[in-house]
Amino acid sequence: MYSAWFEVNIAQFHKNLAAIRSRIGTARFCCVVKANAYGHGLIPIAQEAERFGVDYLAVYHVHEGVTLRKAGISLPILVLGAFQETQLDHLIQLNLEFVISSSFKAKIAAQRALELGAICSVHVEIDTGMRRTGVRSENAQALIDLVQNNPRFHLKGVFSHFVSAENLNDSITLYQLEEFLSLKQKVGGNCLWHLANSGGVVHYPDSHLDLVRPGLLCYGVSSQNSIPEIEPILSLKAKISYFKVVRAGEGISYGHLHRTVQQTRIVTVPVGYGDGYRRDFSNKMSVLIRGKRHKIVGAVCMDQFMVDIGNEEAYVGEEVVLFGKQEKEELSFVEMADAANTDPREILVHFNERIPRIYSKN
Ligand SMILES: *Cc1c(COP(=O)(O)O)cnc(C)c1O
Repeated sequence: MYSAWFEVNIAQFHKNLAAIRSRIGTARFCCVVKANAYGHGLIPIAQEAERFGVDYLAVYHVHEGVTLRKAGISLPILVLGAFQETQLDHLIQLNLEFVISSSFKAKIAAQRALELGAICSVHVEIDTGMRRTGVRSENAQALIDLVQNNPRFHLKGVFSHFVSAENLNDSITLYQLEEFLSLKQKVGGNCLWHLANSGGVVHYPDSHLDLVRPGLLCYGVSSQNSIPEIEPILSLKAKISYFKVVRAGEGISYGHLHRTVQQTRIVTVPVGYGDGYRRDFSNKMSVLIRGKRHKIVGAVCMDQFMVDIGNEEAYVGEEVVLFGKQEKEELSFVEMADAANTDPREILVHFNERIPRIYSKN
């Protein structure tokens, strides 16, 4: 009934989670569902992750955590983003775990918890290299002690975040790991020490510790295809909306960024940058029609773009795959990220709610 739609393969999502689970030993599994579950749909993905039996979910914004609680998710939820004072009531009342990364934030959180007669579950963030949020390792002990000694806090975890763990034998990653491990050794304590993102899960088993926090990997995207059972779960399909023959030497789409060399057949696909299909794909990406790749010609418009099918046949209403599989061909996120000179995560989170997501269980 739609002219363009996403398919989210839930069975494969479970397989991805199982593959991750089988590689992390006794570590707990925190599935990162921030940014609309990397574009896959926050609530349905969180529900499936809960059904699978992950131990934790992580989001960035407080409101993402609120949305999950309102949808009935009862798993522990870690809100990774730094909170504002005005957000504390939501965090505390909805039992969302949050991050303490300075003594100032610890003070205001403890004060509000006291007023509400509550105890907050918190994680202390250590900066081992991102220089984004978190206390430096040399100040970690003092902050951890402060949190542990305050009856308004339940210290659930201590964590840090990798800079470049997608690379094997990466010197920055090894340095961060060493710094975090030596802090763990020094401080000890019975809380969850966590560090591994997707790259850590795949390439640095020593970083798995008490809990892992993969995002991208859960959605089946890994640049080196390092875990064979893991596959992307999202595909984007559309139906050809128009067919025309264009003569030699004619320009196509806004600004005529492409000009035909010879007479050719052009089909129009009803997806554009208004849906999150990036304009960077203009004249670069291909789509699949009848199991074959065909190039986008001219600029991607807000709602549609054109594809040159040469001498091939294709009819209005036929299925086009913008990414995913068709017959023996596949278009991957890594390829799209390369075309747009960005990270596959950015390709994924760019998609908005305009094109519906269809969740298939088999
Ligand atoms: C986004 C994020 C993750 C997940 O990262 P991936 O590389 O996608 O696995 C884990 N931890 C933190 C703190 C994050 O911000």
